[in-house]
Amino acid sequence: MNSIDEKLQPILSTVLHRNSGEAEFHQAAREVLESLGRVVSKHPEYFDEALIERICEPERQIIFRVPWIDDNNQVQINRGFRVQFNSALGPYKGGIRFHPSVNVGIIKFLGFEQTFKNALTGLPIGGGKGGSDFDPKGKSDREIMRFCQSFMIELHRHIGEYVDVPAGDIGVGAREIGYMFGMYKRLNNRFEAGVLTGKGLVYGGSRARKEATGFGTVYFVRSMLAQSGTDFDGKRCVVSGSGNVAIYAMEKVQEFGGRVVACSDSSGYILDEDGIDLELVKQIKEVNRGRIADYVELKRGNSKFVKGGSIWDVPCEIALPCATQNELNGANAKTLIKNGVIAVAEGANMPCTPEAVQLFQKAGVLFAPGKAANAGGVATSALEMQQNASRDSWSFAKTESRLEEIMTNIHDACHNTAEEYGAPGDYVLGANIAGFVRVADAMHAMGVI
Ligand code: NDP
Repeated sequence: MNSIDEKLQPILSTVLHRNSGEAEFHQAAREVLESLGRVVSKHPEYFDEALIERICEPERQIIFRVPWIDDNNQVQINRGFRVQFNSALGPYKGGIRFHPSVNVGIIKFLGFEQTFKNALTGLPIGGGKGGSDFDPKGKSDREIMRFCQSFMIELHRHIGEYVDVPAGDIGVGAREIGYMFGMYKRLNNRFEAGVLTGKGLVYGGSRARKEATGFGTVYFVRSMLAQSGTDFDGKRCVVSGSGNVAIYAMEKVQEFGGRVVACSDSSGYILDEDGIDLELVKQIKEVNRGRIADYVELKRGNSKFVKGGSIWDVPCEIALPCATQNELNGANAKTLIKNGVIAVAEGANMPCTPEAVQLFQKAGVLFAPGKAANAGGVATSALEMQQNASRDSWSFAKTESRLEEIMTNIHDACHNTAEEYGAPGDYVLGANIAGFVRVADAMHAMGVI
């Protein structure tokens, strides 16, 4: 564990005490506070008016019951969450996650990270996150619809285009956003396109939003590699997950000439030395809603499925964890380093444990933290809000070129901030400080609220 500035220690102690048992939130808060030591020694004014303590406390936390009826006519109860973390820069903005592991600590860590990530995009969006412990796996389409409708019957009173704008995350894609948008529209009797992002193209969605998080992560890595005088060409890559972020990260890596040989889901990973056949992965995951193991049955040739194995055992030069939090630990990092990894970028939120991050940085591996590397998704959501506000619809090329520009700017902001604060090459420190300063300046201007 890195050390924490003695002036910041009491703030961390308060966070730990006030949010007891919320391990992921503790982890995210500790990481940011570790980086802030260098800011507060240069700018002690950030201690004024308990600003850092306020930034660690969500503005509002909503927990609600979500009753729904399954296909056997049984009543099921889930729990819904929305944590509205910080609105200093704009309406709360952040995804909704449906996964059985969801609890208030997970949503709080995601909302906290989102606040700094959204600041890094340079766009006018605050930070929030939501979700439910509902497990969409194995549910029928009708069950998904009934659940989404019940979730929105409560959530609708807390959101709005100027208040809080949710999007997708794990377990929430275009289908779920459609059902939620439909119920919001009915409850409010108004077509408020800007209330949700990640919508379908025919009713106000943005081109390139589906691709944005994965594409953006790879744009960020391209900038990092260029900084070290190299590129993707011919490099062997491993991408964990096979959901929205992983699929489009793989697509961009392949476009840039990299060779993706492995991807995964929660059952295990597939290895294909011929290079992953992405159209087949899309068919399995986006159309059939199947398991990654199906790949080996459907693909002729040189591929295998490793049930329950760790994808990080596969040797690679570039590793992109794109599944979930804490999926890459210290032991995995050691294996990757031994096998010659040169760059790691977090497509997912906080997929690397603190020990793994330290090992990468110590070994001189280029390391991009999620709040910078995966910011392309929320940035493109903000572009969707812009299109909705102006009743416009941009081309794919225009939207993607804005995404590319934003990712380059985020890379440069992280890189230059790390240099300015005496830690060249430390993208974690650069991202935390650059994001913090923007939120803190806005909070400072608005007084104690
Ligand atoms: P999806 O639901 O589309 O895909 C998630 C993938 O990760 C699936 O392959 C899933 O496998 C796997 N996964 C999820 N939980 C676990 C677990 N506990 N153990 C192993 N594998 C797991 O989600 P996204 O691709 O949208 O999100 C992935 C990550 O990226 C998350 O951390 C999310 O917060 C982050 N992110 C997403 C953004 C977006 O725009 N969608 C924006 C920024 C960050 P299985 O199907 O077996 O569960």
